[in-house]
Parts: sequence; C-alpha cells; structure tokens
Amino acid sequence: MSKSTKKFETEVQQLLDLVIHSLYSNKDIFLRELISNASDAVDKVLFESHQNAAVIEGEPEGKIKLITDKEAGTITIRDNGVGMTIEEVEKNIGTIAHSGTKAFLANLKEQNVAEHPELIGQFGVGFYASFMVADRVTLVTRRAGHDKAAGVRWESTGDGTYTVEEAAKETRGTEITLHLKEEMKEYLDEWKIRSIVRKYSDYVQYPIVMDVTRTEVPKGVNGEEIEGAGTIEKTVEETLNSMKAIWARSKSEVTEEEYEEFYKHVSHDFEKPLKTIHYSAEGVSEFKALLYLPAHKPFDLFMPERKKGVQLYVRRVFITDSCEQLIPDYLRFVKGVVDSSDLPLNVSREILQEDVQIKRIQKSLVGKIISTLAEMREKEADDYLAFYREFGQVLKEGVHFDYANREKLQDLLLFESTKTEAGTFTSLKEYVERMPEGQEEIYFITGTSRAALEQSPHLEIFRKKEYEVLFLTDPVDEWVVQGVTEYDGKKLKAVDRGDVIPATEEEKKEQEAKREEAAKQYGDLLSFVKEKLDARVKEVRLSSRLTDSACCLVADEHGLNANMERILRAMNQ
Ligand code: ADP
Ligand code: MG
Repeated sequence: MSKSTKKFETEVQQLLDLVIHSLYSNKDIFLRELISNASDAVDKVLFESHQNAAVIEGEPEGKIKLITDKEAGTITIRDNGVGMTIEEVEKNIGTIAHSGTKAFLANLKEQNVAEHPELIGQFGVGFYASFMVADRVTLVTRRAGHDKAAGVRWESTGDGTYTVEEAAKETRGTEITLHLKEEMKEYLDEWKIRSIVRKYSDYVQYPIVMDVTRTEVPKGVNGEEIEGAGTIEKTVEETLNSMKAIWARSKSEVTEEEYEEFYKHVSHDFEKPLKTIHYSAEGVSEFKALLYLPAHKPFDLFMPERKKGVQLYVRRVFITDSCEQLIPDYLRFVKGVVDSSDLPLNVSREILQEDVQIKRIQKSLVGKIISTLAEMREKEADDYLAFYREFGQVLKEGVHFDYANREKLQDLLLFESTKTEAGTFTSLKEYVERMPEGQEEIYFITGTSRAALEQSPHLEIFRKKEYEVLFLTDPVDEWVVQGVTEYDGKKLKAVDRGDVIPATEEEKKEQEAKREEAAKQYGDLLSFVKEKLDARVKEVRLSSRLTDSACCLVADEHGLNANMERILRAMNQ
C-alpha cells in the first residue's frame, strides 16, 4: 500500500478542535494520556501472551521509553505493547468507535465547553491531547506477533486529515513522536519530564525510562578522587517512576494526590473522585480493592456499550477491564481496581463468568460499597446528597434486582415529601420517625414533578391529618415501589390508588356509617354521573378523601395509577 491521505471522521475533527482550542488549561497531561495508552497496550500484550506466546517476540518485560531530541524539537513515547494493525489505527485513531460519543458531542456543542472542561474530561480525549503541544504527530506501530514488514506509519497535523502508509518496524508496539510547537519546547527538558511522570504516572506498573547524561568526576577503585582526571560524560537509562501498585500499598502510605491521580488514570475522568474506598479482604477470599465514587455521572451511564468501571488484576498483573461479574449493574458507576491473590494468571473470560472466587469478590465489594454509602449518609450528608443526585437513579435499580441487599438499599433511598422543602430529601427511616400517633402506613404519590403533585387533590386529607406523603417523581420510582412494598413493617401505599384513606379503625367505622347514609341521600346523583361518564370510569362513589375539591379521579387498588399509565403510554404499551 502506498501512502494515502484520509479525512478524520467529522466527530474526531470536532473533538480535536475542542481539545486544541478550549481545553486542558493543564497541558502537562498530554504525557499522562500517552503513557496511559502505552501502559494499556503493554497490559494487553502480556495478557495475550498467556494464550499466544508468539506475541512476546523475545521481550517478556513491558517497558515505556521517553526520548527527546532537542535539535528536532521532538519527544517520543515508545512502548513494547500490543501495537496496532492498519485497520486498528484507522479505527482507533481516525474515527470514534464509541457510538454514544456522537450524541455526547452534539450535546457538548450546546454547552460552553470552555467554562465546563469537566464535561469533556468525563469522556477522556486521550490520544488527541497530543495536539495541545504538537503541531505534527507521527505514530509508527506494529501489531505484536505480526510480520515485521506489516507496520504502519500514521501522521497528522491535526487539521482535518491524516496520512497512513506501510512501514517496516523491527520491534512490536507503538512509537509516537510529537513535533513540539515552538512555545512548547519546555517539554524537552529532562526535569520537566521527570516531574510530570512522578506526578501523574508514578504508579504505572512498567518502567518509564529515559536516557540521561550525567557528567561525573572519575573515581578510583576505592571511590577515591583522582587528581587531574577531569570529568567524563555518562549516559544511562534511568527509570522515572516508582511502579508501586497503589492499591497494594497500605492506606497510610498513599497520599490524597496519588489517589486522585490514579483515579483519573482508571476512570478517564478529569475531576477528583467524590469518595475513595481502599481495603483488603482476607479469609475465604483474598484480594485488594481500590474503588472510587465519581463526583459526576459519565455521559455513557445509561448506554449499554459503556466501558466497565472496575479492572481485574491477579497479583499485580492486569487481566481485564470488562469483567461483568465483578460489579452488579446497579453499581456500574464505581471505578477502580481489584487485585485477587486466588485466581490463576491465565484465567479466561469463560472461567471468569463461572468462577466462585469472582462471586465472592463481588459479594464483598457490594457489601463494602453499600456500607460506605450508608456511612456517608449518616456522617457526610452533603457528599451523600451530591452522590445521590448523580447516581440515585442507578442505585434504585438495585432495590429491584438485588434481593439479598434490598433492605440495606432501602435505607439509602431519598425522597422529597410534603414535609421536606423543595430540593431537600427524607429517608424512609426519618419518615417513620416522624409518623404521628395513629399513622400506620407510609404514603406516597407518583408523578412527573413535585410542583404538579403538590396540586393534587389526593393530598388534601393527608395534609389535614398532617400525614406525610412522599413525592416519587423519578420514572424508575414506579419500579422501586413495586420492589419496596414494606419498610420497617409498614406498608407503602399510593395515595391515588384504591381506598387509601388514613384513618383509625374507629374513624373508619364512623366514615362508613356516614357514607351509607349519604349514599342513600345522593344515590340518584351518583348513578346520574356514572351514566353521563359511561365507559370512562369504573365506578362513581362518595369519598371522604377530599376536603376542598369537589371530585377527583382514583385508580383501582390493583389497577395502574395515572403516572404509570403515562409511562406505559410513552413506551407505546
Ligand atoms: P482511550 O485510551 O480512552 O481508549 P485514546 O484516545 O487515548 O482513548 O486512545 C484511543 C485508542 O487508540 C485506544 O483505545 C487504543 O485502542 C489505541 N491506542 C492508543 N495508543 C496506543 C498505543 N500506544 N498502543 C496501542 N494502541 C493504542
Ligand atoms: Mg487513553
């Protein structure tokens, strides 16, 4: 194949423009992104080598090398990772494979990205960050295990087009050369590079090396100075990172900043995490976990093809970042790393699906996450609220699907109610604590907004009796109340379903007598109204639920309420 010039996919160009012009006030992170990709690529080749030894090509150790050339004004990031075929280069670098990205970008354009860099940070611009500092980027790569002649050379100036051509490459992996912009030459400086690597990539598991030249005074065999010997120049390859797996260290050894940087590495997020959970499990199952709750929801939270959040390692060796069994779907917002001491290194995807160790790990992780959330709710109410606003909707799925933890999850739910101010919440526990004498059930009403629900005539009698009613305004709440039918021995009742009238036994008898009498009195009127409304209602009856309004619509106790009907209608059911 000869050299050909191609256009970036439109979305890639938009993304490039965003990155170059409005983003990343901190340009240093281009190096973090490229090192992170290099480290991912080494993870992949080493994992692949368990099944296919041919990819090793005599280089069993992962390595990332940084090379600067002051004369050419370039910095090169070279890895011996998995590399890419020409198709992979075009797919991974020239287009955006992730289908949700297009919608996300369309959405971004409507917002002012310059003011909200975190929006794009959630998405992770990765490779394109190179164009913040370079006006030309050259990538040479060869897929591990493939023919040496089957390499690829890709180049772009970030202006909408790129070129690709075949290029022989001796060693496996990828080499990315940035031709630095005139004002970005500081990235050639050894100490600048050192400090960036220490700050952002210290925990990377493979050595990040650089050739450094030092002038030395020669010493004798016993280390004594030799008079008049002058100085000599020595070039050595030095490792810049400590390579300490951060999750394997004890909590007291890890600084806040290190936790943060590692979070950004695993999550592709731009912001600090909201909460860090670092623990190790011993006993039946031995593993270490470093988990994070993000501060904001990622754009692909509700997309089926989203990236999984928790990576699986076995004794420091990366295994996979898409183990579905590790974390249940309703906790899919959790990011981080789990490192097991029990699994074999050559564990395959099929084994992972069935593995009892994985099931044990999952159980422990779920328990730990739920207890952390419970503790946050008690002790860090503001943080919990911030979390709940972002991820409450997802957490609620657990009430439906995770039967074993349902009770604990119920305690994590928050709702607005007739007794909370708009925008503030109550838990079911607090609701029950506030229940006045005589109230035996928990009441709720479902609908699209608090403002609309506050007008509901169904609430009149509850207001009068000072019984609190929960406002369930999230569409998933309909499913929540199907799962949570009872809390603390008290039934949850919809105020607009069936004959739900808060009354003591005595009051009920009294009302019944009154109603019988009234029915006699108004019997003709009721049958008249029923006749007029004909097929549109099932029954017309006198009610004691209203105090101010003349009439209201009530659903059958076992029927669908108005909100559920609306949701089903919207779904075309
Ligand atoms: P992300 O890392 O979030 O997937 P990037 O923009 O950083 O996004 O990289 C895009 C893709 O390009 C990667 O997913 C990977 O498939 C490929 N890639 C980038 N750098 C390398 C590399 N050094 N070696 C192999 N593949 C790479
Ligand atoms: Mg990346």
